[in-house]
Amino acid sequence: MHGDAMAENNQEDQVNAAINTAILVDRNGTGSSPRIRPRPQYPSFATIGCHFLDIYLIKQCLLGALLVQWLAPWYRSSRSFARENDVDDRWYFTAVLCLVHTGLYLGVNLPYFVRDTYQVHQSLKLFRKPSMQASRNQLSKLALDQVIGQLIVSPISAYVAFPILFQPLLLGFDSSDSDGTATGIPSVAGSFLQLLFCLLANDTLFYVMHRLLHSKWLYKSIHKQHHEFVGAVSYAAEYAHPLEGLLANQLPTVSGLFVWRMHPLCFFIWIGLRLQETYETHSGYRSGSIVFGKDYQVAHHDFHHSYNQGNFGAFYLDWMFGTMDHYQAMSGYEGYLKLKSS
Ligand SMILES: [Zn+2]
Ligand SMILES: [Zn+2]
Repeated sequence: MHGDAMAENNQEDQVNAAINTAILVDRNGTGSSPRIRPRPQYPSFATIGCHFLDIYLIKQCLLGALLVQWLAPWYRSSRSFARENDVDDRWYFTAVLCLVHTGLYLGVNLPYFVRDTYQVHQSLKLFRKPSMQASRNQLSKLALDQVIGQLIVSPISAYVAFPILFQPLLLGFDSSDSDGTATGIPSVAGSFLQLLFCLLANDTLFYVMHRLLHSKWLYKSIHKQHHEFVGAVSYAAEYAHPLEGLLANQLPTVSGLFVWRMHPLCFFIWIGLRLQETYETHSGYRSGSIVFGKDYQVAHHDFHHSYNQGNFGAFYLDWMFGTMDHYQAMSGYEGYLKLKSS
């Protein structure tokens, strides 16, 4: 047998042995409450705190708050340009939201697609058995789903939701601020806190919804579609049943706005951060750097797709609610990366 193939088989055996040991201990309960007896050891509070600081406070909230300041001149000039050309707020909002969504989808996912297709940077790719690779049929279905989603569903949803949801919940789109300039750009501290609030609200609601979706009936009738990609790929991050898309993705994303109204620029940055994060955590690629990327979260969600046992959302929530037993049984982040790295 060729050396590489032997090494690959050996690695696959190690992965299977580790996960089987974990699963065979106890598979009682539904998929939404996977537990192992005796319970494995969880990471310490300090470990979770350090990753929270790195991934949430620095790489999302601080980065986002600085982006708000950096893009403020662009926001002001684009609002003026829209006003001078008789583009109303509804069209302006729809256009920018779709631009952010499609721009990030292509900007983040095309490089991952090229890496997968042409086998570039495969030393950073988490190991996939051949049976876990996306088939041609799956990729064609995904392409059609994304074209319809990006070009038809997203623009119509944004346009329809604007007067009901976004005009009342975003600052600067009401009649008292018709040119959008009376509402000042929030400070770095203000943007930081708003982004953190949106993140925590989103994580909490997503965790609850996703865990519910793993109950037997909801999994079979709704959530199974998202899990068709057993070896997760970034470009299928949003591939889900429409009801799941609405209740587990879109609703958590905007949930923070119901409590804390947001400046439109801050909101667009928040959507960008949210999309970039979900694409990255589905990519199956480590960043290979501790400065860039969010490997801790990437491994966490990659395990969820590969083994479908626990790890329902943000790592700190699975840690708090004890839903990462199977992941921890294979030594969590360190163990998973060791088994899945070539
Ligand atoms: Zn799931
Ligand atoms: Zn997923």
